[in-house]
Amino acid sequence: MESIKKITILTGAGISAESGISTFRDQNGLWENHEIEDVATPEGFARNPELVYKFYNQRRFQLTQDNIVPNPAHEALVKLEKEFDGSVLIITQNVDDLHERAGQESLIHMHGELLKMRCVATNKIYKSPSFFDQDTACPCCQEVGNLRPHIVWFGEMPFYMDKIQNALLDSDLFLSIGTSAQVYPASIFYRWAEQGGAKTIELNLESTAASERFNENYQGRASELVPEFVDKLLRGDISPEVS
Ligand code: NAD
Repeated sequence: MESIKKITILTGAGISAESGISTFRDQNGLWENHEIEDVATPEGFARNPELVYKFYNQRRFQLTQDNIVPNPAHEALVKLEKEFDGSVLIITQNVDDLHERAGQESLIHMHGELLKMRCVATNKIYKSPSFFDQDTACPCCQEVGNLRPHIVWFGEMPFYMDKIQNALLDSDLFLSIGTSAQVYPASIFYRWAEQGGAKTIELNLESTAASERFNENYQGRASELVPEFVDKLLRGDISPEVS
């Protein structure tokens, strides 16, 4: 490979941790003190919609507080997009909006967005008000009970999978940042990138169950690690060769 021209980056909850949003698996498999099965599965929603609406209303409320802002890791990825002589695509598992608030343009939300809601009858997607629940009338069908958070729950297919797979197969470099990469299909993105001949690098606070799958690993806090790594990349100090 001559030089790195196409970079695809997977981000996870770890990149937003220093912005004040809790990660997922760091708390013994609980998400903000809730069992995943209760708040992040279609079955949980069917069983107790009230709890699920409340949970996402709380997450949305938290996200829109003044103290929750992008951190230097989000900002460094924007710098990379602007200054890199090639293409950069961010695929995020995060449902927060911190990448776009930092100014990222080439961005895919594979697991949906906290600030959006969807009508289950028409599949139309809307900007979410700060609060909605089973009593909120849907803007398209005027029915109550048809709106759900625009979030991919466990057991549901993530969005834009064709576009993601094509981008990974066509990459020279794949970075995995702040994710435990345990959730399928994100857990096999490294393999698609490898198939296309990309070098694969993990940047995370600690080693993960996925670490040994990557060609290289860097460990540290995203707010320090990502800006340092981006500067190296922009200087041409990251070799495209798989060592
Ligand atoms: P995860 O919680 O499973 O893994 C987070 C990883 O980030 C861990 O390996 C942890 O060591 C690392 N990490 C923690 N703090 C870090 C820091 N300061 N710097 C660098 N790394 C750090 O998260 P995941 O892999 O993204 O999977 C969780 C799922 O939950 C996703 O699908 C996502 O949709 C959802 N989720 C989203 C948010 C969000 O939008 N911010 C938050 C929690 C959960």
